Amino acid sequence: MAQARGLLRRIFGHSDFRGLQADVIAEALAGRNALAVLPTGGGKSVCYQIPSLMRPGLGIVVSPLIALMADQVAGLRQAGVAAARLDSNIDLDERADTWRRIGEGKLDLLYISPEGLMQGAMLERLASHPIALIAIDEAHCVSQWGHDFRPEYRMLGRLAEVFPNAPRIAVTATADARTRDDIRSELKLADAREFVASFARPELQLSAERKKGRGRDRVIELVMERPGRSGVIYSGSRNGADEIAQALRDRGVKADAYHAGLDKGVREKRLTRFLEDEGAVIVATIAFGMGVDKPDVRYVIHADPPASIDAYWQEVGRAGRDGAPAEGITLYSASDMAFAARRNAEREVAEEVARVQMRRLRQLYTMFEGATCRAAAVRRYFGETDVQPCGQCDICVDPPRLRDVTQEAQKALSAIHRLNGRVGRGRVVDHLIGKTKDGQSFEASLTTFGIGAGWPANNWRDLVDALLFEGLAAEDPNEGKPLVMLGEADAVRAVYRGERRVFMREAVVESGRTRMDRPRSARAALAEPPEEARGLFEALRAWRRGRAAEQAVPPYVIFPDRTLLEIAVARPRGSAQLMACGGVGQSKLERYGEDVLRIVRAN
Ligand code: ADP
Ligand code: ZN
Repeated sequence: MAQARGLLRRIFGHSDFRGLQADVIAEALAGRNALAVLPTGGGKSVCYQIPSLMRPGLGIVVSPLIALMADQVAGLRQAGVAAARLDSNIDLDERADTWRRIGEGKLDLLYISPEGLMQGAMLERLASHPIALIAIDEAHCVSQWGHDFRPEYRMLGRLAEVFPNAPRIAVTATADARTRDDIRSELKLADAREFVASFARPELQLSAERKKGRGRDRVIELVMERPGRSGVIYSGSRNGADEIAQALRDRGVKADAYHAGLDKGVREKRLTRFLEDEGAVIVATIAFGMGVDKPDVRYVIHADPPASIDAYWQEVGRAGRDGAPAEGITLYSASDMAFAARRNAEREVAEEVARVQMRRLRQLYTMFEGATCRAAAVRRYFGETDVQPCGQCDICVDPPRLRDVTQEAQKALSAIHRLNGRVGRGRVVDHLIGKTKDGQSFEASLTTFGIGAGWPANNWRDLVDALLFEGLAAEDPNEGKPLVMLGEADAVRAVYRGERRVFMREAVVESGRTRMDRPRSARAALAEPPEEARGLFEALRAWRRGRAAEQAVPPYVIFPDRTLLEIAVARPRGSAQLMACGGVGQSKLERYGEDVLRIVRAN
C-alpha cells in the first residue's frame, strides 16, 4: 500500500487516499474481485487506475460513454499515464498503434465500451495478453431496476470465463441493495467483497420547491442569481430544454440545449463547449448525463424532476465534483409526478418492475414534500443508518412546521369519492368551497358540496396535491385533462378512520403559498477565494484557459478549480511547496510548475 500511496502522490497529486479507496485498492492488489459503491466525486477512478498500474499487464476499463472515456484518457495522459481508448471514433492508424503498444506491454490502461469489448474477436485478442485487472464502471447499468439499464452490460458476465485470473472491479455511484444483488449475479461477482461508502456529499446544498405554473421563470431567476457559474439544468422535454436555453441566451447567459433530438455533431460541439467553458450552462434532458465529468459545476437545477431518488442523486451529484460548495435545486409539481407515473405505465416492462418504479417515484416525491433533511432522507434511502441532518439543506436551514390536516384530508377524499372520477383537480377544489358551475347541478346535490368553505382555495389545491403525492389520490391522464380519483384503497381507509394522519407544511397552510415565495438566503454556494487571493486565482484561471485551448482539452484537465484555489492561497515559492498542493503530481509539476510559480511571483 505504501507503493500505491506513492503513485497517488506522484501521478495524481493527492496526499492520501479518501474514504474506501485504500480498501478497494488493497482488494484488487490481492487479486480479488470487488464491488465498490462510492458516491459521485468520491474518487472511484483511482480505485482501478492505481492497481492497474501496479499489477503486471494491461488494465481494461469498461465504460458506457465515449465522452466519459475521452475525458479520463485525456486526464491520465496529462498525468503521464499510458492510456488509450478503443471506440468507434478512433481511426485505424490509432487503433493499430494502440494494439502495438498493448503487444509491447507499454500500455497501462485501455478504455473500451461494453459493445466494443463484446464485438467480434476483441475478447480473444485481449485474452492473449497479460491483463492486470478489469474495471466495470457505472456497473449499475447492468440492473433492470436501475434508471440507466443497458442490455449490453449483461454480456459482461462473460468476462468471468474469459479472464478467470484477472480481478474484476465493479464500481458505481448508485446502487441500492437490490441493484447490488443484480450486479453480483449478472457480472458473476458472487465472491466479490462489497465496499459501500457513505452517500454523504457535504459540499452539496439541497433544496426543493413546488413549481408555480410551469416553473420556467423560476429557473431563469435561479440562473441569473448565479452569474458566471457553470450549471446543469435538467428539463423533462426537448422543447423545454430548447426554450429555457433560448430564454437564458436572451439574457446573456452562455447556455446551450442538449438532447437526443439534436444532431450528434451539434451535441458533441455543445458538450465540448460546456466542458471547456468555466461559466457555461447546459440545459439538458436525461440524454445528457453519465458522460459528464465536469468538476466545477456549481449547481444542478431540475426544471422538471427525475423519476427516482437514484436518478436524483446521480444528477444532483454532477454538481460540486471538485468538492467545493455546490447546489442542487429541484422544482416539482403533482402533475410532474402524474406524468412520470403515466410514462412508467406505458413502458413495456414486467409488472413487478413497474411496481418498483412506481414506488420509487413516490419515494422521491415524498422526500420533496417531506419535512426531513434532504440529504439524510436520501442517505437513508440508500440504506445508510445513523445519519445526521446535513445542516445546510432548505429543510435544515428553515425547518417547516407541520400542521395536522387529517380532517381536511377526509373531506377532500370524500369529495373525490363522491365526484367519482368525473372531474379534475380544479373542479374538486371548486366543489369543496361550494362554487357552482352552471349546468352541473349534480354536484350541488352531493353532501360534500361546500364542506370546505372555511378554507381558501389555495390550501385545498395544495392539499389535493399532497394527497396525490402520498398516493391517497390518483390522476387519470385523460389525454391531457386529468381526472382525480381515489388512490390506494387501504391507505384511504386508514385516513377515514383517523389511523393515518396527513400533514402539510405550516407555511403552505397559512398563506396558501409555498416556501418558494419566501426570500431565499441569497448566498449561492460558490468556490470563492478569500479576498487577498482573488487576483492570483483569476490570473491562474486565465493562464489555464490559454494552456487548455492550446491543447484542446477542458481547463480542469490541466488543474481543477480546487487546485488553483489552493495554490492561490498557499502562494508556493518552489516546486516542493507546489507539489504539496492537492492535485499537483510529478507530471503536472514538470509541465506546468514553472508557469505556475512565475504567475505566483508576478501576482
Ligand atoms: P468519481 O467517483 O465521481 O468517478 P473521480 O474518480 O472522477 O470520481 O474523482 C473525483 C475527483 O476527486 C477528481 O477531481 C479526483 O482528482 C479527486 N480525487 C480522487 N481521489 C482523491 C484523493 N485521494 N484525494 C483528493 N482528491 C481525490
Ligand atoms: Zn439537511
